[in-house]
Formats: sequence, C-alpha cells, structure tokens
Amino acid sequence: MRHILETCPRLHIRQVKAAIPAHALSATLQIGSQDVCTVAKLTNLRNGYRYYFRCPRCGTRRETLFRCDFSVFQCRVCLDLVYASSMKKNPSVLPSP
Ligand SMILES: [Zn+2]
Repeated sequence: MRHILETCPRLHIRQVKAAIPAHALSATLQIGSQDVCTVAKLTNLRNGYRYYFRCPRCGTRRETLFRCDFSVFQCRVCLDLVYASSMKKNPSVLPSP
C-alpha cells in the first residue's frame, strides 16, 4: 500500500547541517541506527556549498529523506510516496480496497 508523504517521518538536510563538518564534500552521519551519507555541491554562484543527502537505495541527491513502517530513511521515490494533494486530484493513485 502506498504511503502519504505528509504522514511519514521526514529528515531534512537543515536538521543535520550542524553535524556536517565544515567544507566536507561528503560525510556520513549516524541517524538513529542508520548511517546516512551527505554530499556537498558547489552553488551556482560558486560562493558556497549546498548540502544534500544521498539516498541509500538509489543514490540520488535529496534534501529530504523519509521513512515509513520503520524502514531506513530513503527518498520519496524509493518509498513510492504520494502527496496528499495528488490523491485529491487523481484518486486512482490510491490503492484499491
Ligand atoms: Zn531513492
């Protein structure tokens, strides 16, 4: 069954930014019992870095990771999450009973 994104525990990069060593291009943080990798990307203006998580499953850069049913933190694509708003517009994304 698909989970609704808004109801899943989430982890935003800003919540852990203080734990990332300054100027570290990549770091591994321990979140609960999970090791989560972060990556830094030079901003377009080349005047600083933006930080992202690396999804442990698909490897894409994400600002937010989610968790549901006690899974590890992953991106919304890997967890197949749907936005509550998209269910209103398109009820077919809901699981059939
Ligand atoms: Zn993913």
